[in-house]
Amino acid sequence: MTRRRLVYEGKAKILYEGPEPGTLIQYFKDDATAFNAQKKGTISGKGVLNNRISEHIYTLLGNIGIPTHFIRRLNMREQLIRQVEIVPIEVVVRNTAAGSLSTRLGIEEGTQLPRTIIEYYYKDDALGDPMITDEHIAAFSWATQEEMTDIADMAIRVNDFLCGLFAAIGIRLIDFKLEFGRLWENDFARIILADEISPDGCRLWDATTNEKLDKDRFRRDLGGEAEAYQEVARRLGLLKEGDANMVLDMEQHRAKRGK
Ligand code: C5P
Repeated sequence: MTRRRLVYEGKAKILYEGPEPGTLIQYFKDDATAFNAQKKGTISGKGVLNNRISEHIYTLLGNIGIPTHFIRRLNMREQLIRQVEIVPIEVVVRNTAAGSLSTRLGIEEGTQLPRTIIEYYYKDDALGDPMITDEHIAAFSWATQEEMTDIADMAIRVNDFLCGLFAAIGIRLIDFKLEFGRLWENDFARIILADEISPDGCRLWDATTNEKLDKDRFRRDLGGEAEAYQEVARRLGLLKEGDANMVLDMEQHRAKRGK
């Protein structure tokens, strides 16, 4: 293997220097963490699936005019991306109450929200990614007002698109997290969608059974996480039906777990 300069190693991904200036290689690991890395583990094959799922979604988003950092997939675990300056804000979009919103506000998981809610969290592991408002973002100059307008507009467009995409394959998009970056062109920075969109950062529930097909299986020790990620990929048409090793039989899994 050729030596490559490591630019950044995160919990689920590694960034290497890309072949041309302004590009990076995003490598998807099988490592999984939860609760600010207090819980650690691996989900076998997750990196391969997330690479494919994120490629698929970013390509579709690009087709409807949402600028993203994705250039092309290189191999099973790597994709070529544009180098951006990451905006230090995690953008969470919620359609249905779940997770921290349910805990914080005492709203039962699964309750449809009266409108889509966008939340912002300051990206800082040491602080546990605290929730912030537009006021903090403006006061500490984490992003300009114009950038925040672009970010919120794009988050809503991504949500509308993804809700439809997943609804068509029998999946409810409960909530998800986005990250954005600045792409510098001379003295002008444009906001584009960065990071990844995969079951690691989305809550995806089967539309008929409400079965969780996302990282909550890992967070909540439900088991069957690899199978759930495979099921999402399969429904998106990314796994061939006959691929015995990859395709999950959720029925078999359920039977095995005695449910
Ligand atoms: O935990 P919480 O309910 O706030 O998460 C909302 C959504 O954002 C979930 O889909 C979760 O997967 C995602 N998220 C994430 N990374 C974080 C925090 C939340 O991907 N650091």
